[in-house]
Amino acid sequence: MWPLFALVLGLLVGSFLNVVIHRLPKGESIVFPPSRCPHCGHRLGPVDLVPVLSYLVLGGRCRYCHRPISHRYPLVEALTGGLFLLTSLFYPPSLETLLVFAFLGLLVALAFIDLDTYELPDGLTYGLLFLGLLSAYLLSFPRPFVEALDGALLAAGALALIAGYGGLFLRRFREGRAEVPVGPHQVHMAALFGTLLGPGVGMALAFLTWALSGRTGKAVVLPDRVTLPLLPLFLLLSPLLGGDFLEALKGTLLAAGGLALAGGLYWALRPSPPETEEEPVAMGYGDVKLLGALGAWLGLYAFLGLFLGVFAGALLGLLLRQRKIPFGPYLALGGVVAFFFGETLWRAYMAWLGL
Ligand SMILES: [Zn+2]
Repeated sequence: MWPLFALVLGLLVGSFLNVVIHRLPKGESIVFPPSRCPHCGHRLGPVDLVPVLSYLVLGGRCRYCHRPISHRYPLVEALTGGLFLLTSLFYPPSLETLLVFAFLGLLVALAFIDLDTYELPDGLTYGLLFLGLLSAYLLSFPRPFVEALDGALLAAGALALIAGYGGLFLRRFREGRAEVPVGPHQVHMAALFGTLLGPGVGMALAFLTWALSGRTGKAVVLPDRVTLPLLPLFLLLSPLLGGDFLEALKGTLLAAGGLALAGGLYWALRPSPPETEEEPVAMGYGDVKLLGALGAWLGLYAFLGLFLGVFAGALLGLLLRQRKIPFGPYLALGGVVAFFFGETLWRAYMAWLGL
């Protein structure tokens, strides 16, 4: 009975996610008004809204105006139903399982909103992050709080630095405009200081320049052309300076991740962001926030999720020959695979290496 219940619940949640995916980016209410046909505007009744079945029975057309309905709707419903069914095979009915359902539902919404708009709404990425941290704190599920927090910061820090180096290459090593009071410059500074002095001091120094920038209205930062090239140098030198390479790397990523997620939260909560010209960057911080959120659920397996996402994205990008592809759906896919099969995949890989 449990798998059947999970499947039906997933189909219904999927139906709700369709509304979220459709309305959230436009800033419309998710609860009201009730669903209508996008073509004729006829209000849809319960019979029209049975997940997947209505679509099949009506032949993929509106009951009232007979114009075609996007196959996206039954797809999202079936996908969510399938994911909940998969969950029921791993977990018994429990509070923890409800949290897994929330994790999966948020990822489905994020993936499809990114496909439509090339954006990952902060409400959903930070919702996913804080739900993961809260669950880890209160229930030690899916992993202990320290692992969840480390996973979030390390993963976000790694992707923020990848984006930093990508941006510097794309600008052909010209200095990018520094955002006031906080932007990628602080993230790169936190990383550099974190390498040398540990994550706490690294973050504290970057927060100090954030405060100074806010105070003076000018960016009080070190240029990227200084911080980013010095960073690998200091990392490689750390064993010679009596440190430990892995500790130094951990300090780098934790500090960068802390600044990236805190800075992102600042911009998300800011009432009216000023109109700014977009800089060419390799990757928006939306992906950084999403990977950080995955880290809160997956711990270090978030890196496996990232690897799988990059692999799937590159493969499909090559096959479809698309130039601009949103990365969020691939990250979400990698995250789901790593959540259910991460340990299995890792053990199989180790066995294959003969370790
Ligand atoms: Zn219609």
